[in-house]
Amino acid sequence: MKGRTLSSPISPKGLIRRITGLMLIPALLLSLGSSATASAPDTALPFVLKQVGPGVYAAIDSPSGKSGSNAGFVIGDDGVLVIDSFFNPDAARALVSEIRKLTPKPIRYVVNTHYHVDHVGGDNVLRDAGAIIIAHRNERAWVRTDNLHLFGDRLTPERKAMVETLALPDVTTTRGLTIWLGSREILIRPALGHTGGDLMVSVPDAKVLFCGDILWRHVSPNIIDGNVAEWIKTTEGLTNAEDAAETAFVPGHGNVAAVKDVTEFAAYLRDLRALVQAERASGITGDALIKAALPKFSKQHGDWGAFSYFAPLELGFMDQELAGTKRVPAPVADD
Ligand SMILES: [Zn+2]
Repeated sequence: MKGRTLSSPISPKGLIRRITGLMLIPALLLSLGSSATASAPDTALPFVLKQVGPGVYAAIDSPSGKSGSNAGFVIGDDGVLVIDSFFNPDAARALVSEIRKLTPKPIRYVVNTHYHVDHVGGDNVLRDAGAIIIAHRNERAWVRTDNLHLFGDRLTPERKAMVETLALPDVTTTRGLTIWLGSREILIRPALGHTGGDLMVSVPDAKVLFCGDILWRHVSPNIIDGNVAEWIKTTEGLTNAEDAAETAFVPGHGNVAAVKDVTEFAAYLRDLRALVQAERASGITGDALIKAALPKFSKQHGDWGAFSYFAPLELGFMDQELAGTKRVPAPVADD
C-alpha cells in the first residue's frame, strides 16, 4: 500500500519498518555430502561478503552452494546481530571469523528467518560464539521435525541426527520485536507466504531489508511449505513501500537485490499461479498439468537458477494450493 514504508506499519517514516521457505537446490544437495575445512583461507570463503550499508553486510552464498543459503550481519554500537546461519556449520564458522576481522564487539544475536535447515544449520556455532537465537514461534516447533520431510528420499541417518540436534531458539515471537544495538534500531517482523513462520529483519538507518526466503533473486523458489496467494501479497507490500527504491533487499538465495528484482519475483509467482489456474480451467490437474504447463513456464522464466529442479515441483504445489489440498506445516497456538 502506497504511503506505507518498509520501516513501519505505524509510523509514516519509511519500507524498512513495514516488513510484514527449504531451499534444497541441487547445489545444496551437493554440499550436503561435502564438508569445507574450518581453516579455509579467505580466497576459499564459502560466501562473498558484501557491504550493503554502514556496518551492514550480506554474505552471499558461493555459486556452487557451499554455504547452502545467504546470511548477513549488522554491527551496532555495542554488539553484532547476525541474520541466519547457513546450512553448513563450517560456513557459519567462517562468518564468525569474518566478523572478528571487522569488529571486536560481541556477537549478541542471531535471527533465524525461518526453520529450513539451509538457514539454521550453523545456529549452534553462533550460540557457541555468544549469540542468543531469535526465531518465529513456529520455527521452534518445526526446526527439529518438519526439516526431516524436506530431505524426502535423501534423508540419511546422519542428516536425521543433524536435524534432531539443531539448536532450539531462545527467544520466539509471532508479532515481531525491536532489538537495540546501542542506538541502532533493528526491526524484526513476521512475513507470510513462504512457510507460515518467517521473519524479515530491517535496518532502518541503512535502508537494508534482510528478507530470508520471502525473496529469491533470479532463483526459482522452494514453495514446499508456501502459500502463493499470501506470498504475492507480501511481495506487493515490499514493492509498494515508499522507500522501496532506496532499499537494499538481501534475499535468502541469489545476489543482493533492488526493488526491480522484488517486482520480478512477484511476477514469477503471479505467472506460476496464472499458468496453473489456466490449466486447471481447461480440466487438467496433477502430473498432466505439470507436463502441460512446464514448457510454457520455461518460456517465461526458464533462465532462473534451479528452474529445472524446482519448476515442476512449484507447478504441482500450486495445483494443490488451488485445489485446497496442499500440506503446510501446522502453526502452533499464539501466545
Ligand atoms: Zn533457503
